Amino acid sequence: MTPSDKHRSLKHLPGVDRLLELVKKEGRFLDIPRSVVLDSLRKALESKRKDILTDIETSTTNDAILLKAGIFVKEKTRPKLVNIINATGVVLHTNLGRALLCEDALENIRRVAQSYSNLELRIETGKRGIRYEAIDELICELTGAQSAIAVNNNAGAVLLALNTIAKDTQVVVSRGELVEIGGSFRIPDVMSKSGCILKEVGTTNRTHLRDYENAVSDNTGLFLKVHASNYKIQGFTANVALKDLVTLGKEKKIPVMEDLGSGTLIDFSKYGLPAEPTIADSVCSGADVVTFSGDKLLGGPQTGIIVGQKETIDQIKKNPLTRALRIDKLTLAALESTLKLYRDEEKAIQKIPTLRMLTMPFKDICKKADRLFKTIKEDIGTLADIDVADMNSRPGGGSFPELDLATRCIVIQPENMSVSKLEIKMRLSTPAIIGRIEDNKYILDPRTIQTNQRHIISSTLTKILVEK
Ligand SMILES: *Cc1c(COP(=O)(O)O)cnc(C)c1O
Repeated sequence: MTPSDKHRSLKHLPGVDRLLELVKKEGRFLDIPRSVVLDSLRKALESKRKDILTDIETSTTNDAILLKAGIFVKEKTRPKLVNIINATGVVLHTNLGRALLCEDALENIRRVAQSYSNLELRIETGKRGIRYEAIDELICELTGAQSAIAVNNNAGAVLLALNTIAKDTQVVVSRGELVEIGGSFRIPDVMSKSGCILKEVGTTNRTHLRDYENAVSDNTGLFLKVHASNYKIQGFTANVALKDLVTLGKEKKIPVMEDLGSGTLIDFSKYGLPAEPTIADSVCSGADVVTFSGDKLLGGPQTGIIVGQKETIDQIKKNPLTRALRIDKLTLAALESTLKLYRDEEKAIQKIPTLRMLTMPFKDICKKADRLFKTIKEDIGTLADIDVADMNSRPGGGSFPELDLATRCIVIQPENMSVSKLEIKMRLSTPAIIGRIEDNKYILDPRTIQTNQRHIISSTLTKILVEK
């Protein structure tokens, strides 16, 4: 287009008012808020203007502009937080929202959310109550602790506990435990934000009790142990058991805290997984304070739980930071219901999705794999080479580092499409399906695929392979 053509085209574009009139007359965008329609019309006009100026062929009829606006309206009104299908086999996937809540928790959230509740009211006296009472007793019952409180997440729990117990004092930590969890949670950074002074002892691979002992000064306020959640040091290693640190702490009158990271209430070794110290073990070792996440191995809502000696927890409750980190009633409702299930371990394993998926017997996974295989095979015919193969899944969420869980996966090799293109197309479909690529094959792990997702996966796959 010549400059004067462009000028003419731009001049002929309708104004927003004219477009609004048309929208009204033609009954378009009926249930869409006016602000969204207005913004979409402006964006559509802007886009057309840009096309003209950059010599991109474009239709500038009113219909074409309204069509374009329709795309913006759709984009603006569709939910941004959407359900996806996790076929990665990683049970606790932080990017995919970690733990799935159990039915009891969902029901309780609904019950508490739609009505007034006694969140902070003592019904018997009519006086103000304490938010954490709903779960305090239950957590103590399950862990053997004297007292408990739950805050926003475990990062918050660590920050709050450190700030309460050890502000302006030295906190002694083994070098091998100065971990980064991901999402920029690093123990040294949290330490400085909580106003504590980090005192590293030992070496990366070996730390002894005498290292802690030698580090003690007039200004030592705490011994801290941190669970090396997401990595493992192997070979020539040594670390100090919590109970030995507690003994030293008693002798030196220095409190001991453990950040368990994931934290579990059940002994996973009964289900063929490695033995992880349970929260009760840490409490029993005599730690003053133990912190752990609610949405990792516990399988509940996002929260950070602090258990310990009553005196210390009472101190924490009085810290103004507690108010800033407090959990809301929905989290409290979900947490209460999830914890209640742990009174009967068998029930917990059945009803808490995280536990169910982690402890799923291999033969059950094989059955799931077989069903998925058959469904897909029937749907796709010769469009891809498909097989099952014994592989490994990872627990994720900073639990059981380096552990491989035996699983049986569906392995797909498309005939006329690259594996990476298939992965992208599956991810961009609705709902998004997240698989993984291994050895240039597309892998679906049934461990994390939920009931009723089999047919969606199969039909999406077929559609992608047919379209190419
Ligand atoms: C995961 C983890 C945290 C952080 O917990 P969030 O609940 O994600 O805030 C802190 N410490 C350790 C050792 C962890 O594994």
